[in-house]
Amino acid sequence: MSANIVKISPGFEEIMPEDYRNLVKDGPYGRGLDVDKLGTFKELIEEHPLCAGCGLALSLRLILASLPNPEDTVIVGTTGCNSLSFSQVAIHNIHSLFGNQNAVATGLKRALKIRFPQKAKDVVVIGGDGGIGDIGLGMVMHSWFRREKITTIMLDNESYSNTGGQESGMSCEGAVLNMAPTGKKFPKISLPEIARDAGCVYSATITPASPKRLGKVVKQAILIARELGPTYVQIYCPCPTNYKFKPQESLKRAKEKEKDGSYPIKEYLSPPAKEFVEGLEVVNKPR
Ligand code: SF4
Repeated sequence: MSANIVKISPGFEEIMPEDYRNLVKDGPYGRGLDVDKLGTFKELIEEHPLCAGCGLALSLRLILASLPNPEDTVIVGTTGCNSLSFSQVAIHNIHSLFGNQNAVATGLKRALKIRFPQKAKDVVVIGGDGGIGDIGLGMVMHSWFRREKITTIMLDNESYSNTGGQESGMSCEGAVLNMAPTGKKFPKISLPEIARDAGCVYSATITPASPKRLGKVVKQAILIARELGPTYVQIYCPCPTNYKFKPQESLKRAKEKEKDGSYPIKEYLSPPAKEFVEGLEVVNKPR
């Protein structure tokens, strides 16, 4: 049994769906796994309704495989393509109104702290660039100002993709989309720097073309948030449907953008976060 955390009531073993039985037997709960071990355990998402080649789907898969304690994690999502996959995720999750996610996550984190004072309960916001960078930015910023101990992860597809392709604040200057036919007129917002200046103790960018690094960044961000304060991770997620390239080229595109610096890979750690991470590295060093 997967750490004796997810159980089937006696007598129901035969009628539960095979996927659920596999989760009970081989799920990642309580086992401290990460992306290195993908393929050796039953994943928390294996089917989803997103387009073929969608960068969100791969990133979400990697995030879920990197959670330090999936059994004690709640994901808070909001409107966007990525939210369509949450009903297929075998973990507690809440869908908030568009842009409200960091306010909902704040209330949830505080309530969990009161209900389970001795236990680490991680609250992780996962949303798109529209929900986090544009429409929800006020709520996001205020959760950072208040130093809420939550992690905010932006799946950045650089557009409003599930409404037909409008530009977002995270689209690059000149980006041409179905509903931005003359090209975006101003540059991409520098949210990692805004996060740092607004009180995040850790802020990083990454792409799914570096899966191990993505796993490390997500795990680190959640562990730092648990101890110190708000953290922010921004993941480039290529959207073949709206940026009009072949689905099989998504990963290549992410690799190229990492390599040529057009999606700069950054990491900011506050001095206490740096000290905390160094402590983690000492603890996890092979003996
Ligand atoms: S429209 Fe783009 S971001 Fe949305 S599911 Fe399709 S590929 Fe992914």
